[in-house]
Amino acid sequence: MDPLAQIKHHSKEAALHTAITESELNVFLTPQNIYEETLKIETEAGNREFKAYRVQFNNARGPYKGGIRFHPQSDLSEVSALAAAMSIKCALVNIPFGGAKGGVVIDVKHETKATLQAVSRSYVKAFQPYLGVDVDIPAPDTYTNAEIMSWMLDEYELIIGQNAPGFITGKPLELGGSYGRSDATAYGSIYVLEEYLAAHNQQFSELRVAIQGFGNAGANVAKLLYARGATIVAVSDSTATLRAEGGLNPLVLADYKDKGLSFKDYQASGVVIDATDSVLSLECNLLVPAALDNAVTKDNASSLKAAVVLELANNPVTPEADEYLTSRGVEILPDVLVNAGGVIVSYFEWVQNRQQYYWTEEEVQKRLEATIKTAFKNVLAHKGEKMSYRQAAYKVALNRLLAAMRLRGRLA
Ligand code: NAD
Repeated sequence: MDPLAQIKHHSKEAALHTAITESELNVFLTPQNIYEETLKIETEAGNREFKAYRVQFNNARGPYKGGIRFHPQSDLSEVSALAAAMSIKCALVNIPFGGAKGGVVIDVKHETKATLQAVSRSYVKAFQPYLGVDVDIPAPDTYTNAEIMSWMLDEYELIIGQNAPGFITGKPLELGGSYGRSDATAYGSIYVLEEYLAAHNQQFSELRVAIQGFGNAGANVAKLLYARGATIVAVSDSTATLRAEGGLNPLVLADYKDKGLSFKDYQASGVVIDATDSVLSLECNLLVPAALDNAVTKDNASSLKAAVVLELANNPVTPEADEYLTSRGVEILPDVLVNAGGVIVSYFEWVQNRQQYYWTEEEVQKRLEATIKTAFKNVLAHKGEKMSYRQAAYKVALNRLLAAMRLRGRLA
């Protein structure tokens, strides 16, 4: 199933638990604007062209909002699906944004910094008429970062001739970024898990956790879980899975990865090295997919041992696997809730930029915790006995989105 079809599938399932009609849902499931451009830049090696996208999915609840990914396989279906997921996510955590996403077909690993800067500036030049503080606010995504956001901000301000830090989020602190942005996704997921455990009378110390992926999201969540007393029984990167019955120390592993080393070469007593995909099927009670989309499929779902899945990555469980695991009683805490911490702190960054008044790290954390915990409580309150957390999350979000569209007369 392609990524947009997955979002449509989840939306249709959830809509069955609402008064939303099929034709109303179809209006929402059609992106409002799709822009495609070819970025043309001059490099030392000659003239180059890169395909680029911006999909503005829905703005009924506020300006479009969503990251820009640089990836060789970026395509319209994936960008549209991620834009739809942003609309759902922003509505679910009740922040006044719609959903959008951007993409550039480029392999950053093979490009110079000069080329990346030229591509970043060219993206802003190409899409500038459709972007803006109150129109559509980009952010970092896969293989884009604070440095790229800085170039994009600079280009945008050159074009409009004004200071406009709220045009883009995920900036460095020096250019109007917010405290707490870099680990917001991991913190958000921990706050969701904290509420889930409280609702089920469980403690962090009872958790035996396997984590797929040890990048920004996976490593940060590993550290936060460890600090709360959970046992990290396994972690993987793209080369191997490390496992240890007595638990791994993510602080030591993060130092190791910071040296640019791979798990396949890791050596420590008590630590066993396994195939990279084995992380999914190890004995544990919490599985955290934090690397790839479609990691859990109908082919490997039956080997999962975890009772709870915390979806830190986007789309890590296919709809078929989701249906199978849910029928087996596995509880899946869905990506649209679990990884919403990033966009929540992006919203805080935008608010601070608009006010030109900046918050402390403690203020950001307090507000992030309150916002995402409220979202979890809403999901729990709307979760019928026969509903999954994903269906309940989509139900809350769709009800809010469709209400806004109805009030605007877009559904008539
Ligand atoms: P990242 O690039 O920092 O890390 C990805 C990690 O996955 C790396 O450790 C890499 O080695 C590992 N990996 C790659 N292929 C693998 C494989 N086959 N098996 C096991 N591990 C593999 O990326 P990230 O920012 O941590 O994002 C991870 C996921 O979380 C993505 O789906 C992303 O969309 C999602 N996400 C991240 C954020 C964020 O703020 N970082 C926010 C929302 C969603």
